[in-house]
Amino acid sequence: MSDHAVKVEPDHTTASSGNKDNVVVTEELVLDTSPAASLSPPVPSCVPSAAGVQGSATPLASKDKARSRSKMGRDDRSTEGKVNTDIGYAISTHVGKHLNRLRGEKVLQIKCAGRVMQGKQETNGNSTHHRPRDRHEPGNKHQRKKKPVTVDTSKAKTSLEALKMSIKQLKWKEFPLGRRAACDIYWHGTSFHDNDHIVSGQVNKFPGMIEMLKKINLSRALRTMHELFPEEYNFYPRSWILPDEYQQFSAQIRGLKDSDAAAHRTFIVKPDSGSQGEGIYLIREASEVRLAAGSQARQAVVQEYVQRPLLIDKLKFDIRLYVLVKALEPLQIYIAKEGLTRFCTEPYQEPNQKNLSHVFMHLTNYSLNVQSDNFVHSDSQSTGSKRTFSSVLYRLASKGVDIKKVWSDVISLVIKTVIALVPELKVHYQADIPPGKPGPTCFQILGFDILLTKNLKPVLLEVNSNPSMRIEHEQEVAPGVFQYVSSPVDEDVKVCVIRDTLRLMDPGINKHGHPPPAGGGGAAQQGTVITSWPPRAGPPDKAPEEEPGDGLPTLCLKQVYPKYTKQFQYLCLVDRIATLFLRFLGIKGNMRLGPTAFRTFIRCCKLSNSNLPMASVDILYIDITRRWAASTQDSREAGQTPTQTHGMGLQAFVEAFFQLAGRRSKAALLRDQVASLLEVCEAHLDGPLSALPVAAAAAVSLEDRRSLSRGRAMAREASKLSPSSSSSSSSTTHPPPLCSPAAPRRAVSHDQRLQRSRHGPLRTNLEN
Ligand code: ADP
Repeated sequence: MSDHAVKVEPDHTTASSGNKDNVVVTEELVLDTSPAASLSPPVPSCVPSAAGVQGSATPLASKDKARSRSKMGRDDRSTEGKVNTDIGYAISTHVGKHLNRLRGEKVLQIKCAGRVMQGKQETNGNSTHHRPRDRHEPGNKHQRKKKPVTVDTSKAKTSLEALKMSIKQLKWKEFPLGRRAACDIYWHGTSFHDNDHIVSGQVNKFPGMIEMLKKINLSRALRTMHELFPEEYNFYPRSWILPDEYQQFSAQIRGLKDSDAAAHRTFIVKPDSGSQGEGIYLIREASEVRLAAGSQARQAVVQEYVQRPLLIDKLKFDIRLYVLVKALEPLQIYIAKEGLTRFCTEPYQEPNQKNLSHVFMHLTNYSLNVQSDNFVHSDSQSTGSKRTFSSVLYRLASKGVDIKKVWSDVISLVIKTVIALVPELKVHYQADIPPGKPGPTCFQILGFDILLTKNLKPVLLEVNSNPSMRIEHEQEVAPGVFQYVSSPVDEDVKVCVIRDTLRLMDPGINKHGHPPPAGGGGAAQQGTVITSWPPRAGPPDKAPEEEPGDGLPTLCLKQVYPKYTKQFQYLCLVDRIATLFLRFLGIKGNMRLGPTAFRTFIRCCKLSNSNLPMASVDILYIDITRRWAASTQDSREAGQTPTQTHGMGLQAFVEAFFQLAGRRSKAALLRDQVASLLEVCEAHLDGPLSALPVAAAAAVSLEDRRSLSRGRAMAREASKLSPSSSSSSSSTTHPPPLCSPAAPRRAVSHDQRLQRSRHGPLRTNLEN
């Protein structure tokens, strides 16, 4: 898979994009001016803020300086004041009115966190289904008093203040020290695992999201999609994973030079789990890559550098957008209507040997540029080094740019990226919250960082699993003395995003199927959301539209999925492969397929024939798992047990699936090959043969085990011959464990148990 890299085409105009979905979204956006759309009032907006979470130190920037900053504050801090745009939707002043009521209230610093014990357990179903227990007073049929939604904020960390304000506005109940009984919502500052004792309610993090959004995994997920849909997934710069793909990268640069000696391409190297520009540097030669960090190989991504970004005031900038993933199954995505733009502080020049190390010219990170003397803290949202996205769009619109097209492309980018992430997230989800077991449901706010090219094509830079939700910024109150002071823009924006996320997650609303008030839209409100977005021009200080009844502004989050399901459904091939994978995964809590489960999959889907004997299946399994074990061993998620790192993970299964699809189908395009194999598999599993996997697993025979050991021997031979497998399977990498004699017996008894459960998911393998 490594030789299928994603190519970004930075200089294509967006108008020339032939993407099927782009076209459709654009058409829908144009409906904005229709009478129906006008039913949706212009929506007040909040401005998301930027940057990652950690202190920064880059080879481009002063390490010490960055560190001293990061101590003070690890996220974006804005000093911008009132919204100054007449685009119409970027009006946060009215939101500010609500917030101003709350401003100045002293927020407790919570140091101890209560352990959450649940009084009552709920069954989880990997969806937003939530049982809002005791939302009404029991025993009082006529005068049921609505109980406030309860939120455990004990793990909220830096988002605590914004969260408190949100809860207060909603008149919900906060539990800053946790609660013995169950809460409706648990707000975590970092990860799903911030509190491992939750068995009900909703948590604001998905298991596995941090891992999935590390640069290597994100690149891999997008690359897989690019293999299937090269045109649709051309918004992510072509990337190579280091150190594994260094040779390919090096060969690529050589090839480019051979074909055009004058072309000077620049590449950007980013450490796998870095943030805020930490460890990033630009290169022009493969030899400039720093492969080692001390004695360890440095896990990183090297990526084509977008050489011609859109400039404003001669400065490079990027966009931070907040995106809510409300549920995985069915997928629900919302986008905040307002974003932030973060500006560089040194005029941009295309990279040359002299300016490669100019951090303030090439990196837009707030955390870096705020250290520049040129950084401008502005009270206006349309000037300074941090501005609202709407103010930038307004400026572009005044120059004749079709900003609806820009928005439409951004929405497409966001939906496609989430579609690429979902399959692996589902595997994490099932491992952490197995169906049928008590557990919470999840949602999460993500921070998308997007660059616009000179030709207005959005390019994805990264996705943050923990976008900063701080609402104060750092100020030097005396020489060398820094203090956090309230940042009105951050406060308005982030409180709005958090509050409206909470509104969308209100268990009462979800239970009764009533979507949140106008502008937000749950799944039932398809067609009422994006059509009014981007909003029409309007006076910047227009009063906020309030919801009748609760006095809250209209939602600042807009649903884009399932609203646009039809346009993007065809992209969900890997998701369907993941459904197969999960079906054969077997043991709850596991994330990898064992060899017998893989064989069972092949048998149940009737994929084995004279062209694909089971011995070849075994070789395929061993070869692919061995290579993936080598490439993923350094990027395991903390907390994974050894059994979770052996066997065939989803990405390896997808690779195997692609190979099987290629063998069976004569179709020219990979996507057609894969679609056709999926149909075969789904037909066998969902038809009258659906009981087969159970029977097949029960019949894991001596013959199977013999065949597996034959397969191992053949794989050993193959690995001697195959350069790919021999290069990737180092002496430190062992083949995955194969079935022990006890495994088939366990499989039999387990599957007999499962046979008794008529509606339970199909389980076939027990040996992972
Ligand atoms: P981090 O998580 O450390 O902030 P990013 O991927 O966001 O890493 O990169 C940091 C900055 O580098 C971005 O904000 C952007 O300004 C710049 N950058 C990143 N990737 C590219 C690219 N491919 N082309 C041009 N600029 C880039």
